[in-house]
Amino acid sequence: MEDKRPYGRKGGTDMAPIEVENLRESLERTRAELARVLRTRDGIEIEKSADQMDEIQYASERDLAIRSVDRESKLLRQVIAALRRIQDGSFGICIECESQISPRRLAALPWALRCIQCESAADRVAGERADSAGERLEDAA
Ligand SMILES: [Zn+2]
Repeated sequence: MEDKRPYGRKGGTDMAPIEVENLRESLERTRAELARVLRTRDGIEIEKSADQMDEIQYASERDLAIRSVDRESKLLRQVIAALRRIQDGSFGICIECESQISPRRLAALPWALRCIQCESAADRVAGERADSAGERLEDAA
């Protein structure tokens, strides 16, 4: 019997191919949208003004614009990576523990790289780095 499934041959997600296809389409749309947004932001204008208050205003607008470009480029990279993972069959597999990422999680966050357990473990580590040592008491008990 011929296997014509484009996905899942290498033990990828057990999402139905049609669901993966829907996600792929929505990822493609997100990619196009982000690319468009980033193109229009390409020339962040550096406005000059004699007025110092205006200068401050422009500077903070510029900061904001640069920050959102950062965020959008990062998301765009994640979206492109997810599309690549759909193509090579590794979509939906956690990069940490190689278990399957739940279809519900993928539907909400198609570019997720980790299963919910690994993601919250990673969040915890990040949180612990950010927190002061003051919250460690309950662990010691
Ligand atoms: Zn995992």
